[in-house]
Amino acid sequence: MTAQHTSCQLTVGGCTSNILTHARLRILIVGGGIAGSTLAALLSRRGEPPVLVERGGKNGVSGYALGLYPLGGRVLHGLDMYQRYCQISRKMERYVMHESSGNVLREFSLEEFSENYGDIRGIDRGLLLALLRSGVPEENIYYNTTVQHIQNNPYGVVVTFSDGSAQEFDLVVGADGIHSDVRAMVFPQDMYTYKKTGWGGWGVWRPLSGFDGATYRELWAGGWFVGVYPVHDKLAVFLGGSKKELSKYTAAEFAELLRKRIPAGLLRSALQSLEGLDGAYFWDMEDCRSSQWVSKRVVLLGDSATAFLPTAGVGASMAMDSAAVLADELSRTNVEYLALALEKYVLRQQNRVEMAQKNSRFLARMMFQDSLSTALVRNYLVRMYSLKGLLKDIVKIMK
Ligand SMILES: Cc1cc2nc3c(=O)[nH]c(=O)nc-3n(C[C@H](O)[C@H](O)[C@H](O)COP(=O)(O)OP(=O)(O)OC[C@H]3O[C@@H](n4cnc5c(N)ncnc54)[C@H](O)[C@@H]3O)c2cc1C
Repeated sequence: MTAQHTSCQLTVGGCTSNILTHARLRILIVGGGIAGSTLAALLSRRGEPPVLVERGGKNGVSGYALGLYPLGGRVLHGLDMYQRYCQISRKMERYVMHESSGNVLREFSLEEFSENYGDIRGIDRGLLLALLRSGVPEENIYYNTTVQHIQNNPYGVVVTFSDGSAQEFDLVVGADGIHSDVRAMVFPQDMYTYKKTGWGGWGVWRPLSGFDGATYRELWAGGWFVGVYPVHDKLAVFLGGSKKELSKYTAAEFAELLRKRIPAGLLRSALQSLEGLDGAYFWDMEDCRSSQWVSKRVVLLGDSATAFLPTAGVGASMAMDSAAVLADELSRTNVEYLALALEKYVLRQQNRVEMAQKNSRFLARMMFQDSLSTALVRNYLVRMYSLKGLLKDIVKIMK
């Protein structure tokens, strides 16, 4: 437990029991990432704050760059957070693809997209999380806390926390990400499948100076890629490639290699002074799909239900979109009809989310080409696509 809970001298189970004494629905959210924090903020806004447990510490948020589509960003209107969101994020106006020679392969303006649906904005994930969590009463958030055991019954869930204490809830929301423990504890293993691409990479921050802060830029080669993604006041640089290739190098050695491979220009300059690269987290490019989202009184939300490759940059937006739908369904039910509300949440959302995942997988197939020859064919094909064509399923969802 963290400092804010020192007034509660009890265990996690004991404190949450106090918090939930008068709750209409006793809800536990496991995982304070994008999905869990959005749902917690939406429920709190309605005066029904849930309990939120987060494995990480209050200040230990991993901050990588997120591009948010209006699908996600618009949820912040109802939380009265949209203005602040605009202040701490940056509107993207262009997406530019380069080929390995450094030449521009395609340049897409995002203006029409913005006019029709709203802005795509770049934001530091840590700042977005802090904003969302500011909408949840501090005493309802338990950092450095997780769940040890879940006894899922048709009329309630008994959860044992990492401190050994237990508490009963009406509903548990598993929002604990791609490698969800809640899912593993409650759902049969044959209900979900990971899909590995064989690619991965490292991301680091660097100063924005010298870069166009309104442009996402990626260089797609054979076997590797580099992306630069501006947020409010800095630039995220991502170095990716096939894991077979990357396993030969440390992150810094790989950056050095790319500095030699990439012709002089913006992208090469992005690779200068990549401090902290060797300590950078290695992201595995994999996703996951669970065919079942609900089991009795446990429901999955965000990446734990359907996880995303970062290729379309839409996972966080879908997590927020799903949180809004779940919050809406929970507002229209009492404990007696909870099962029906969860069924409606799945009916409204699962197909949409899987369409967005399909789009991300399509882009991964385009992007992750191991050899130079297949990369050349890919580059030829990419020239024929419009932005709407590349984001076909996501555009359908926006409509
Ligand atoms: C490198 C990279 C770049 C990406 N870029 C984009 C992008 O530009 N745009 C975009 O929309 N999406 C992007 N994504 C995808 C996006 O980050 C995810 O889809 C989104 O964060 C999903 O939200 P979530 O809340 O379900 O999971 P997460 O944000 O992963 O949150 C899960 C939370 O649960 C906590 N947790 C885990 N296990 C437990 C446990 N047992 N008990 C308690 N807490 C637990 C974790 O600490 C974490 O806080 C990217 C992903 C990666 C890896």
